[in-house]
Amino acid sequence: MRRHGPVEYEVFLIGVDQARCVGCAECVTICSTGVFEMQGGTAYPVRPESCLNCQGCTGICPTQAITITEI
Ligand code: SF4
Ligand code: SF4
Repeated sequence: MRRHGPVEYEVFLIGVDQARCVGCAECVTICSTGVFEMQGGTAYPVRPESCLNCQGCTGICPTQAITITEI
C-alpha cells in the first residue's frame, strides 16, 4: 500500500517467466484489465499498473509462469 496525499493505492509488480511460458494466452483472456499482451509467442505484462490483484492469471496459467508482488 502506498500513499500519495490522501489517496492510498496498491502497486503490483507482475512477472512472466519467459522460460516457463508456453504461449497459451490464457492470461490475456482472463485478465479483465488488459495487463498482458502476446509478443513473439509468449506473454508480457505490458500494463502492470492496471493489475487489481485478482489472482485470475496466476490461477489459470498452466505452468505457474506468472508472479505478482506488491511493491
Ligand atoms: S497463461 Fe502462462 S503459459 Fe499461458 S501465455 Fe500466460 S504466462 Fe504464458
Ligand atoms: S491478478 Fe488479475 S488483474 Fe492482475 S494481471 Fe492477473 S488477471 Fe490481471
